[in-house]
Amino acid sequence: MKDNNRQVNLSRRNSLKFVAGAIGTGILAARVGADVAAPAPAIAQNDITPDAALKKLMEGNKRFVDRKRQSLNQDLGRLTEVAKGQKPFAAVLGCADSRFPSEIIFDQGLGDLFVCRVAGNVATPEEIGSLEFGTLVLGAKVLVVIGHKRCGAVDATIKGAQVPGQIGSLLDAIRPAVESSKGQPGDRLENACKANVVLQAKRLKASPVISKLIEENKLKVVGGYYDLDTGTVSILADS
Ligand SMILES: [Zn+2]
Repeated sequence: MKDNNRQVNLSRRNSLKFVAGAIGTGILAARVGADVAAPAPAIAQNDITPDAALKKLMEGNKRFVDRKRQSLNQDLGRLTEVAKGQKPFAAVLGCADSRFPSEIIFDQGLGDLFVCRVAGNVATPEEIGSLEFGTLVLGAKVLVVIGHKRCGAVDATIKGAQVPGQIGSLLDAIRPAVESSKGQPGDRLENACKANVVLQAKRLKASPVISKLIEENKLKVVGGYYDLDTGTVSILADS
């Protein structure tokens, strides 16, 4: 019986190793549930608190807005360094919109951010799974859900657009935010975009993996709103 259990544990470990390799972490021995432990990858940059991680991200955005980007960690040396392993300090769930690539707007480089981008920044099971991996296994200390001004996916949902293919699945995921923000004072689209960030952050926080990390003070989940006109990311108070 014991041997059987051990085999199950080992095979779980191997499958997680496989996933890690597939995502790009070469060296990793992770355990599931009570068994989580990873050997130290090359970069120890995420040995910081969730608050410090958020501060680091927001300082990067300030440099971007102030036109003072340092473009750190984007050279060949960094490429070689992170080829050995990754320890991103932040994870991001952002819209696929071409106008706000996370590494640029937060002035970060290779190995710094674990980024999931999908139209309407919706927390689907696949996105949630990816972000559980980025936080639990890779150790990102802050997870930011970012929506943006004039988001086309949110706008299409408000307008009840008839869309082809699989696009409708995105609108379905956004719809509750459009409903909940209806009738609020101010700009209809902006309110819905912000409500959508709050909704998707809530879905992420409902993950047992993510909520446990929050409880243990190993992770902070916040919502952000990107202003396409100024480049500024503001943290949403109610997220
Ligand atoms: Zn968008």
